[in-house]
Amino acid sequence: MMSRDEALQRDAQDPLAPLREAFALPEGILYLDGHSLGPLPRLSRERLIELLDREWGQGLIRSWNDADWIGLPQRVGDAIGQLIGAGPGETIAADSTSINLFKLLAAALALQADADPARCQVLAPADTFPTDLYIAEGLGALPGGPTRLQRCTLEALPQALGPQTAVLMLAQVDFRTGALLDMTAWNAAAHAAGALTVWDLSHSAGALPIDLHAAGSDFAVGCGYKYLNGGPGAPAFAWAHPRHAGALRHPLTGWMGHAEPFAFEPGYRPAPGIRALLCGTPPVLSMAALEQGVAVHTVATSFGGMPALRAKSMALSQLLIDAISRRCAGHGLELASPADPSLRGSHVSFRHPHAWPISQALAARGVIGDFRAPDLLRFGIAPLYLRYADMLEATERLAGVLETGAWRDEEFLVRRPVT
Ligand SMILES: *Cc1c(COP(=O)(O)O)cnc(C)c1O
Repeated sequence: MMSRDEALQRDAQDPLAPLREAFALPEGILYLDGHSLGPLPRLSRERLIELLDREWGQGLIRSWNDADWIGLPQRVGDAIGQLIGAGPGETIAADSTSINLFKLLAAALALQADADPARCQVLAPADTFPTDLYIAEGLGALPGGPTRLQRCTLEALPQALGPQTAVLMLAQVDFRTGALLDMTAWNAAAHAAGALTVWDLSHSAGALPIDLHAAGSDFAVGCGYKYLNGGPGAPAFAWAHPRHAGALRHPLTGWMGHAEPFAFEPGYRPAPGIRALLCGTPPVLSMAALEQGVAVHTVATSFGGMPALRAKSMALSQLLIDAISRRCAGHGLELASPADPSLRGSHVSFRHPHAWPISQALAARGVIGDFRAPDLLRFGIAPLYLRYADMLEATERLAGVLETGAWRDEEFLVRRPVT
């Protein structure tokens, strides 16, 4: 096990260490929740103030053109595209992950229905992120729509793929355990059965190298406020393989997805490519913050980019797991994540029957991780700003909470609306 001195030495020699300076992290806090809400990039704050005062305050409506507000969805989309193996013009930033999923599922289903109307099922693991299931359910509930959501365990998925499967919907990294799926293998299995794939990259974009093209993916969505550090409620992104993007049909046909929004034609004509996925006016403030969040990753390219960040995330996660396993042994924690780092995303989860009060007592000691019902403690290992010594310090504070039983204090039992 690495000693504190060794950890400090690793940090001192870490070529990625300067990237931490890009964030305004509060003093004394160990932030292990970047998988839920990334921290504030210093430049986002500056950019928003500039946007408010100069572009909105002084420029007023002229800034749609003069500051290219109108180009934000494509510009930010392209920057994200570079992190996920997309070509230029293939990705847009827009709406939320849920809404983008709705549009892409609809588009994939429309493509499949053209070839075979009986192919109308969305197949998904029953324990995937609930909003993904709810959205597929909602599509199925549209009047007249033949779409049906079929859920099964991950293990049963290969058998469940069949002539009725239109879309296989998967999250690349499991939000509970952090388990990482083999994108190439699942795409191949789906395609062999005649299905298309829609990937949710919410817990992987900005956390590990992704190559949507090399993996043979069809569609993808992902989240802007997690590892991309776009800020609370940041716009999400959507990607379609160019082989499908010529014919994107979905029901949210708003004017921003029109071929010529400012021609004000009475009928809808889709914009070419991924732009057809835009619906209404982009939230400029949130887009500008997301642009700065993604820009930190762009800067990280000259420090080794995603491969270097991935290597560091794996090393940090392993250190945290080893440290907690030793230092907190006998206190009822059980690793819920895969033990093999190559099978994990960038967060680590432990089960404990009292995970909620423990997470609260830990936060009171300055270690912010999170809780997922019913019994998971999650620690997000964002390699842009976390340090080796942080893993040991977080472990010490966790051990303190468990050894003293501090979590039994009544104040930590109160459930809050957001966990
Ligand atoms: C965080 C997350 C979402 C969030 O969806 P929103 O529409 O942005 O609220 C969706 N899917 C997965 C897998 C997530 O992890």
